[in-house]
Amino acid sequence: MKRILLVGLCALSSFATLACDFPEVKFQHDFAAARLDECKQLNDSTYQLTLIPENTPINDSPWYAFKVIADKPAEIKVVMKVVDGTHRYPPKVSQDGHNWQLQKYRLRKNKMSFHLSVSDNPTWISGQEILTNDQYYQWGKYLAQQQHISQEVLGNSTQKRPIYKIETKGEGKDWLVILGRQHPPEVTGALAIFPFTETLLSESKLAQKFRKQFNVLVVPNLNPDGVQLGNWRHNANGIDLNRSWKKFDQIESKHVDDYLTELVGENQKMRMAVDFHSTNKDIFYTMPSDYGMNQPYLVETWLNSLDKQYPDFTVIQKPGNNPGKGVFKQYFTDKYKAHAITYEMGDNTDRKFINTLAVSAANTLMTTLLNSDPVTGK
Ligand SMILES: [Zn+2]
Repeated sequence: MKRILLVGLCALSSFATLACDFPEVKFQHDFAAARLDECKQLNDSTYQLTLIPENTPINDSPWYAFKVIADKPAEIKVVMKVVDGTHRYPPKVSQDGHNWQLQKYRLRKNKMSFHLSVSDNPTWISGQEILTNDQYYQWGKYLAQQQHISQEVLGNSTQKRPIYKIETKGEGKDWLVILGRQHPPEVTGALAIFPFTETLLSESKLAQKFRKQFNVLVVPNLNPDGVQLGNWRHNANGIDLNRSWKKFDQIESKHVDDYLTELVGENQKMRMAVDFHSTNKDIFYTMPSDYGMNQPYLVETWLNSLDKQYPDFTVIQKPGNNPGKGVFKQYFTDKYKAHAITYEMGDNTDRKFINTLAVSAANTLMTTLLNSDPVTGK
């Protein structure tokens, strides 16, 4: 299956009014996933932009995405400052909102500055590549052109945006669950979920064999409100969804829990879950092999095998458990006695490598799930 190129941004209404229009330069944030909180002109050519979180306390992941347009060609300096935090994402620049390059910048405490050549052709600036709700929808629609794949609405978000599930169901009763974008700015996790899923759903011999036994459920974008609003971390209620898997007081995680409960009620079996995120390095958070899951060594077998395929890259496995926190992987293991991992890609990991690794990780996972010992998982 060839990857679909993620298509254009959807035009949506109800954006904040633009307060960043200066006589010569305009900072636009009237598009999906845009975020810019305050703007100020400091002198002829210097503009200060301020990033403010949706609410506090919050994880330090200041997100920004905006376009700069000038009436006539000009050189400007942009200074970006963060309220209640420090910068996490080095700026990326794009002329079309799809192809991005790292922008040269300077960082001093919570102030980041860079120079830009601007014109009446918009220049896009963003913390990471922009991946909108519509792009996920179009991807799922493309996948669902294949007969064995469906894309349907799992339920609506807090602000009534659809949360989609992509599914393939064969004759088996075992389920692999894939989850993504609980945290809106964690785009490198999103860049991994696409090739990972496409490999599981492909027409390779291995994938076809895998799907005879395993069904796959993918919820690639659990926080569409946070994505749309350009949130740093939370859903529209200001809650971290990856802390909501205990109380289930957020509709987004509740939809997933309800659906898994329904499947299990139909005599289906949850076998494993992978939840995609980003952090400062590539790391795989696992459940400890003595925690009481079925096939206790399954994930170790998988990740050790993946590690062996990359002599120059270490697959870091970090087992741990936090029963009180409301994290997805903990919930899944506690409820189904099955493995769950948090698949974290580094914010700055090479994009091609994210893709390569995700394809290998998916292939190796399928081999492991098919061939490992049914009792030990070795
Ligand atoms: Zn995360």
